[in-house]
Amino acid sequence: MLRGVALRVTRPRMAVLSAVYEHPHADTDSLIGVVRASLGGVSHQAVYDVLRALTTAGLIRRIEPPGSVARYEARVGDNHHHVVCRSCGVIADVDCAVGPAPCLTPSDDHGFVIDEAEVVYRGLCPDCSTATSS
Ligand SMILES: [Zn+2]
Ligand SMILES: [Zn+2]
Repeated sequence: MLRGVALRVTRPRMAVLSAVYEHPHADTDSLIGVVRASLGGVSHQAVYDVLRALTTAGLIRRIEPPGSVARYEARVGDNHHHVVCRSCGVIADVDCAVGPAPCLTPSDDHGFVIDEAEVVYRGLCPDCSTATSS
C-alpha cells in the first residue's frame, strides 16, 4: 500500500497507518497511544510527521469537525460525511446524501469544477439521547 505512493516503508509509518485503520476518527493523542503500545518509544513529533506524510500521500484523510481536534481515518476518496454527537463527540460515517460524490450541487458554482462537499451533521448519538430522555 505504501509502495504504491512512493513513500518509504518504515516501521513507524506502518504502525501509524494500521492504527488509523483500526481506530477510525481517532485524534492524534489516541493514535500516539496506540502506536506507542505496539512500537515503544516513538516521539510525538515522529507520529505527527507520519500523519502529515500519509495525509499528503492521500492514504489517510484528516478531518476537523468544528469544535473538535483533528482526527484521522483510512476511508479516503469517497467524499463521505460525518455525523458528530453534540454531547459526547462520537463520530460516525455518513455516505453522500444523494447520488455520486460530491452530493451537493451549489446554487452557484462560480465556474469551479467541484469534486468535494464537506458536510457535518450534528445531533445526539443514541446513547446520549437515551440519557437525556430518561
Ligand atoms: Zn453522544
Ligand atoms: Zn469517516
